Amino acid sequence: MEDFDFENRIVSPTEIMGDSDSDNPLRPKTLDDYIGQERAKQNLAVFIEAAKQRNESLDHVLLYGPPGLGKTTLSGIIANELRVNLRITSGPAIEKPGDLAAILTNLNEGDVLFIDEIHRISRAVEEILYPAMEDFAIDIVTGKGQMAASYHLPLPHFTLVGATTRAGQLTAPLRDRFGVSLRLELYTPEQLARIVTRSASILNIPIETDGALEIASRSRGTPRIANRMLKRVRDFAQVMSDGIITLETAQTALERLEIDELGLDANDRRMLTAIVKFYRGGPVGLETLAAAIGEEAVTIEDVIEPYLMQIGFLNRTPRGRCITKAACLHMGFDLPDAQDGQIKFE
Ligand code: ADP
Repeated sequence: MEDFDFENRIVSPTEIMGDSDSDNPLRPKTLDDYIGQERAKQNLAVFIEAAKQRNESLDHVLLYGPPGLGKTTLSGIIANELRVNLRITSGPAIEKPGDLAAILTNLNEGDVLFIDEIHRISRAVEEILYPAMEDFAIDIVTGKGQMAASYHLPLPHFTLVGATTRAGQLTAPLRDRFGVSLRLELYTPEQLARIVTRSASILNIPIETDGALEIASRSRGTPRIANRMLKRVRDFAQVMSDGIITLETAQTALERLEIDELGLDANDRRMLTAIVKFYRGGPVGLETLAAAIGEEAVTIEDVIEPYLMQIGFLNRTPRGRCITKAACLHMGFDLPDAQDGQIKFE
């Protein structure tokens, strides 16, 4: 079977080349500009205001949810609303306890430290993080044997914002040290249309309302994908319709990019096809499916499945993944024996 390129496809929710995420003008800077995620936003607004009134650092915040939903953006907003600096790093980038100690001792009072993919920090680094989060101090041991000396180093009061695709991947002691835990949800097409319209106006791209909605409904509930599609569709609009993104240009452009009206691309279709063709619609275990399509199980779980489940194309059952009737209808598969929206391909 042909190799899948889930990472670099246009509907990849993780960053790919061309997303230019540093100094990204499309990133909202304030809570008011941040579209959707109302529950998380309302709670954060209260916590930020309360911390400001008490003149204290904000409690540590854990953000979890699929990639591309705005976790990094939200950490920037938190820092901005608190009027403090933001320092960004990631779990895999912090290799040794000393790396984390260096970052922590360089923070200023009240600063926000954002650690992306926090579930990937090593055990040794995690041990340093506990006292840092709890007591704003770290213990450093230098030398060996009789020469060993231990220093208790106080740290500035900082706010740790941790991001992870799944809260369940964190160890319990680490999870318990976050005072605030917020789950980000996939966005509705209407919310994404607002994001697309906002981005188009920042980038000076003329866009019609139904053109924005068309891009939104093919963006898999993910702002990062919506912004990326907007840029691709702009290219087609330039050549096809005087630079204006209309419904028709959006449709034609996305068809050419092989993204269907629900945002599925060739790779999604091949995965759904594999479930039907090799496993009679399921149930099929995650690892088996991953091996069959040559993809990492974690990518399937974090990147591909959330959207397929949201649109009701895939069910997770204790025995494995099952394709649904809706998916079969969309894909044009036969429905030999449909029961309760789930296919029995016996
Ligand atoms: P994550 O850290 O969850 O992977 P990011 O914060 O990097 O996601 O968001 C990806 C892009 O999507 C950002 O560059 C930003 O422009 C856009 N974005 C995310 N959330 C929102 C939102 N709520 N409103 C507007 N744009 C958003």
